[in-house]
Amino acid sequence: MSDVPADLPTRPETGTDSAPGPDALAAARARMRTLATGYAAALPGRDTHSLMHGLDGVQLTFMPMGDRDGAFDPEHNVILINSRVRPERQRFTLAHEISHALLLGDDDLLSDLHDAFEGDRLEQVIETLCNVGAAALLMPTDLIAGMLARFGPTGRALGELARRADVSASTALYALAEHTDAPVLYAVCALTRAGRDDPDDGPAGKVLTVRVSGGAPGVKYSLRPGTPVPDDHPVAVALDTRLPIVQDSYVPFRSGRRMPAQVDAFPDRQRVLVSFRLPDRPAARDEA
Ligand SMILES: [Zn+2]
Repeated sequence: MSDVPADLPTRPETGTDSAPGPDALAAARARMRTLATGYAAALPGRDTHSLMHGLDGVQLTFMPMGDRDGAFDPEHNVILINSRVRPERQRFTLAHEISHALLLGDDDLLSDLHDAFEGDRLEQVIETLCNVGAAALLMPTDLIAGMLARFGPTGRALGELARRADVSASTALYALAEHTDAPVLYAVCALTRAGRDDPDDGPAGKVLTVRVSGGAPGVKYSLRPGTPVPDDHPVAVALDTRLPIVQDSYVPFRSGRRMPAQVDAFPDRQRVLVSFRLPDRPAARDEA
């Protein structure tokens, strides 16, 4: 039950050459989502205490855990959370560990997983499913739908979702992207030190780069983490001025290619949450 990348992407993985592949995983993801959604619907709220509400007799303990984010120990009925990591990560981990408990309580799903996967792959699938469950617990469909209805598929919607669900921007990004119908690419951009090895690098040595990006289903583009954002791009201007910007501009691919897009750049503390609304019929192929 170790969870290294607790708030990493919860995207479907590419199946390996021999079946069971994506189909079995997609079905399991859907069942996990239903399981978590059902659990969440009965909760009095989504704060730490409320999240535990549906797990009878399970104890919650916060303690330093080194590199681990948390664990669920079914034998002693206890969820452990690493108290040394940032609060939003603790929160995601708690939801992830609750999902482990929910999964262990669902004999049908568990036995289907054991039929379809084995060994390391089974472990991997279980971790993926618990991330899916965690996202569903913290970001119910109606919350996401509400953000999209109110703000559209925009950088602003991304910022509001992260704030209201109290999750990291990357966690919010994947959930929002999954529910977006329009051809939109989302990104979180932030300042990164340009030359980490050079101790003389001051603030001037920082460059604005993409931290994470992901598109709505069917969007075949993404921006690789580390892709620099040009100084005159609306995303950079939004960070400088601290003002949200909506403007026809472009996706700054690392290759230098500029794909036209309507950019919605929403500054939030030291970062900018961005949506790129792509042309309806992208003609070209993948570029990352
Ligand atoms: Zn886990």
